[in-house]
Amino acid sequence: MKKNLFSGFSSAASLLLTGMPFFSKPLFARAGGGGGRSGGSGHFSGGWGHSSGGYTGGGFSSHGAYYGHSGSSGDSSLLTVIFLVVTIYIIYRLYVKYKNTSISRQYQADASVRPPALTIKGNRKSPIPIPEPGLAGLPAKVRIAFLEVQTAWSGQNTDRMRRFITDGVYQRFNTQFRMMRLLRQTNPLSDIRIIDVQVDSTEQDGMFDIVNVCIRASMKDKFECALNHELDEEGVSDFVEYWSFLRKRGAVEKNIYDSLKCPNCGAPLPENMGEVCKCKYCNAMVNSGEFDWVLAEITQEDDYLREGMFEEKMDGLDEKVREMASAYGDFAVQLLEDKASNAYMQIMTAFAMHDPSLMRRFVTDDLFGQLAPQVEKHQEIFNRIYLNRVTLVGAEKIDNTNRLTFSLVCSAQRALIANNSVKLVDPEIVVREQVMSLTRDAAAGKGKGSIYQHNCPLCGGPVKDTLDIRCSFCGNPFNSTANDWIVSSLTSRQQLMNRGHSV
Ligand SMILES: [Zn+2]
Ligand SMILES: [Zn+2]
Repeated sequence: MKKNLFSGFSSAASLLLTGMPFFSKPLFARAGGGGGRSGGSGHFSGGWGHSSGGYTGGGFSSHGAYYGHSGSSGDSSLLTVIFLVVTIYIIYRLYVKYKNTSISRQYQADASVRPPALTIKGNRKSPIPIPEPGLAGLPAKVRIAFLEVQTAWSGQNTDRMRRFITDGVYQRFNTQFRMMRLLRQTNPLSDIRIIDVQVDSTEQDGMFDIVNVCIRASMKDKFECALNHELDEEGVSDFVEYWSFLRKRGAVEKNIYDSLKCPNCGAPLPENMGEVCKCKYCNAMVNSGEFDWVLAEITQEDDYLREGMFEEKMDGLDEKVREMASAYGDFAVQLLEDKASNAYMQIMTAFAMHDPSLMRRFVTDDLFGQLAPQVEKHQEIFNRIYLNRVTLVGAEKIDNTNRLTFSLVCSAQRALIANNSVKLVDPEIVVREQVMSLTRDAAAGKGKGSIYQHNCPLCGGPVKDTLDIRCSFCGNPFNSTANDWIVSSLTSRQQLMNRGHSV
């Protein structure tokens, strides 16, 4: 992966920024969000489901393996100069981004409430506005989605939102809920108020349209950990989040938000759909984007505004993405980032449960051989695990396979459960960046299923047991790269930079 001057500079900037106490605004857990009080201002920001996260900032973990520890004990005047240079650079970048986002549209022009639209996501650099009628019903759906997601969070139950979230979003919540149950944590939300909903920007991505919606809301938030009441917190948060929805272009618009019925045949949807979001009568994949807008990502304001600032993208990535999108009908960056986040959360769950079999389907045999021993000896579970960002940074053809590389920024705090109590291993939530590759054969056609939808990529048969390695119908190994995107490498950025520490 090539580094240009800017990207090298921005990595340095990020290290410096995150290392400076007055800038350390930790990216807190919250899968659609999370929680965390920012260092100075005392309001909440970012994190999973508005778990209040009252960490008082003040810098990241000093475990050298992570971001944000760049030795702040240097000469202070030098630091000031560096700080000024970095600040000017960031202002310049924000200005460039701002100039490039004239397409962003607003439903309500309320500049006093609304933060400026600064970004266009990732690799989809030339957004084309989606025709207005396609968005007419969206704000009402977003409001329903927002309230249902908060209810899901409070009850740690994904059932009522399953039909309108992607599999990757489901997996982010699912992993978080598993951790919260292990840690005996609850986080009921109340007094939920949606202050503003506006379309921030629209994009075209392969066969899909993407809409990024800016939501400003406030709520009361009570976090309780039965195993360690020192972690309890309570407060009112007022925050901005960006919710990204996707829909297949040209989809006949149905409404999957106003009922619990199948948009295809009208039959009642199963109450507990879990990993598979499918009508059991007509087999329609309700959350595929073929029927209605589907929630594909929740990004905290800070992360959203930073998008693209620190990731080092491979030269010529946009061109490569266009090439792959025209060669493969199922190629869409948002969906691939969704698969990457899904696989990553499965791997993190395997680590937390100390059980390599949980990630078996999603990783190549080679990678499994490398990771399994680490998973087995891993002791900790994750308090407030939250995937801040997943970004495609590379796409290349190597021999007869296509390889996609993603940058993943994840926040979590390691904790140990012993004697019916929780002990924190990391004193604060730690943010780290990892680099993960997904590989699929260049000759792959549109498979009949996908391991990410809990069925066999080759024959479409259901995965009977999540621990199965081979399809019980056709014998195809689930982690074969012949038909699906499989994780072929996972390293931490620091590891790449020879600063040690694996997952
Ligand atoms: Zn149906
Ligand atoms: Zn099969």
